[in-house]
Amino acid sequence: MLFDDLPRNHETIVSVLVPVAVPAPYTYKVPAEMSVRPGAIVRVPLGPREVVGVVWDVEPEAGIDPRKLKSITHVYDAPPLGDELRRFIDWVANWTLAAPGMVARMVLRSEDALEPEAPVSGVIRVEGAAPDRATPARSRVLALMEDGMAWTKPGLAASAGVSASVIDGLLQQGVLETVAMTASPLPLPPDPAFAPPQLTPAQSTVASALVESFAKGGVVSLIDGVTGSGKTEVYFEAVAEAIRRGRQAVILVPEIGLTEQFLRRFEQRFGVPPAEWHSEITPKKRARVWRGVAKGEIPVVVGARSALFLPFANLGLIVVDEEHDTAFKQDDRVSYNARDMAVVRGHLARFPVVLASATPSVESRVNADTGRYVRHVLPERATGAALPELGLIDMRTEGPERGRWLAPAMIEAIRQTFAEKHQSLLFLNRRGYAPLTLCRSCGHRFQCGHCSAWLVEHRMKGKLVCHHCGHQEPVPRACPACGTQDALVACGPGVERIAEEVEGLFPQARTLILSSDISGGPERLRREMKIVEDGGADIIIGTQLVAKGHNFPLMRLVGVVDADLGLAHGDPRAAERTFQLLAQVTGRAGRMTGGGRGLLQSYSPDHPVLKALVSADREAFYQAEIETRRVTGLPPFGRLAALIISGPEKAQAEGFARAVLRAAPPHQGITVLGPAEAAMALVRGRHRFRLLAMAPRQVDLQGYLRHWMSLVPPARGGLRLQIDIDPQQF
Ligand code: ADP
Ligand code: ZN
Repeated sequence: MLFDDLPRNHETIVSVLVPVAVPAPYTYKVPAEMSVRPGAIVRVPLGPREVVGVVWDVEPEAGIDPRKLKSITHVYDAPPLGDELRRFIDWVANWTLAAPGMVARMVLRSEDALEPEAPVSGVIRVEGAAPDRATPARSRVLALMEDGMAWTKPGLAASAGVSASVIDGLLQQGVLETVAMTASPLPLPPDPAFAPPQLTPAQSTVASALVESFAKGGVVSLIDGVTGSGKTEVYFEAVAEAIRRGRQAVILVPEIGLTEQFLRRFEQRFGVPPAEWHSEITPKKRARVWRGVAKGEIPVVVGARSALFLPFANLGLIVVDEEHDTAFKQDDRVSYNARDMAVVRGHLARFPVVLASATPSVESRVNADTGRYVRHVLPERATGAALPELGLIDMRTEGPERGRWLAPAMIEAIRQTFAEKHQSLLFLNRRGYAPLTLCRSCGHRFQCGHCSAWLVEHRMKGKLVCHHCGHQEPVPRACPACGTQDALVACGPGVERIAEEVEGLFPQARTLILSSDISGGPERLRREMKIVEDGGADIIIGTQLVAKGHNFPLMRLVGVVDADLGLAHGDPRAAERTFQLLAQVTGRAGRMTGGGRGLLQSYSPDHPVLKALVSADREAFYQAEIETRRVTGLPPFGRLAALIISGPEKAQAEGFARAVLRAAPPHQGITVLGPAEAAMALVRGRHRFRLLAMAPRQVDLQGYLRHWMSLVPPARGGLRLQIDIDPQQF
């Protein structure tokens, strides 16, 4: 169906995916002066507004009177979305039960990118021309221009340290002339031959296998390597191979794993930093990356999960680093797991996908065991350093004194590490000063008015903060319930409180809190990571931010303040999450030098997860966890979908949840549980109920859900129904 072939006297109509939650594309007329093909990005009228859409290659709805159709108003001068990407959008929509237009919207994220960048003017030196009089300012300008390159006027003035009038003067005299230049000259491409690493034999074996996988179509490889085993160097070799083959590559990392250190390592290997894609980049940069990727001019992107939906012209490799990480799951709007969808994108286009982790997800491990993925094990650290020795501190018998959080054995270990001039990290996955604040006089607890969550005191900011909706209020002097002055007590520890204790114990040590909410944003955080890396801090107190991906060369001791924290959840995935988090964070110890130690404070030291960690028996953990999932029919042995029903009124939301449940058609093998209050029963003022559909692996759960949804009464009055395939929490 090539629209251009149709005779022009005949009115052409096409299907266009519009960015709204409707099940199918809409039909539009193509004005005679326009020509479009499938994948073209267009602007179309939709109700009272105009939206950006994509021409979709499905037959337009038959039998519509063309006179009633609206026309495409504009065709963007951007590369059309290719076949593979369009099939991927369809696939994701089908899998997540999201509207295809909503998935396409994730691709069209950068609206600025759709129009070409305005050219800017620059100046160059006219060969042979000299100024009438050589002043020092003029000489500085001309010295800078010796190589014949074009400069923007402001850039030149700033670099030469002269005012704009100096440059204008040189222009008037004909020594400089104005030229058009592109606003963003392309950065140099990464060079696969820039600095090939000296790999260990174990690394080489895996790297060769990855390179060979390019010849085999859509192979999925899982690099299962202990912390510090050099997985990054190994998958960089796959990236190098993609570049050599003239294909693009994308490396997906959890957003907070996108550190200065990572970008530097890329640059050391390939000679230039990679293009970045994440929530913090400016709209302008975003537009450049989008266009550069779509035109095939940017060979490698490193990005957060949304980079998976970039319109690569010629994608040939996806790497998912820390593939187990929950940051790859997006829960709002289109709910998808970027790791799983990466595998799909690779499969549809038949290119290799590489997953890497020191603690693979149970899903990926099972996929490797059954032969769907190829698993490569790196059992030792690349530097030859030994893995840290882990020990438990039984808080029931060896716990701290009242009102303190660090056990004597922990304090002693920190003291020793500090004396040896090494770094210690104290890990506690709790931001702020204390997780709960109450009034000593009347017992009043501070709760968020919009969420079922306590307000967390952030003493450095002087605020009480909801970690779910971001609501903040000042810490009051008097209890709002009983009016007693200065009666508020902090219950339990957060990182700020641990830092306070550490500062009291080790006044001569340099302490630093690393937490995602410290003021100053990502820039400050990057600086502080660098300080730790360079040895500018002795004792670091951090949230899960520090658990991932960093190499801190001087770090020897990792102390986990509360190893039970994640295990308390009723969620069957709690064991896996806790195992992963604790293995990752203790894996920060002794990465370069060996001699690392991990100490875990726990009130339940007999818990199988903690035992598996301390005895360094990863296999025991995986085998037990896989068996549990198998007998309970939980993923990956069964399929799950959560239906979250929410509304501003509790009774109404619950009533709607019951109506949705009543509409569920009976189906052999599918069980629907609920409705129950969701784990977070109130979020941002919306009451949430949850239904859970469980199906055996071989059942088409999406097909069932689609049928079910067609029987559900429409959601009205602020009610909402959201489907979450493969929810994080079972
Ligand atoms: P992982 O991602 O598996 O945790 P990294 O790739 O971060 O491990 O490597 C850990 C450390 O080992 C890094 O400092 C890295 O520079 C170093 N390293 C990796 N490969 C080698 C090698 N072949 N020889 C020496 N050092 C290496
Ligand atoms: Zn809240």
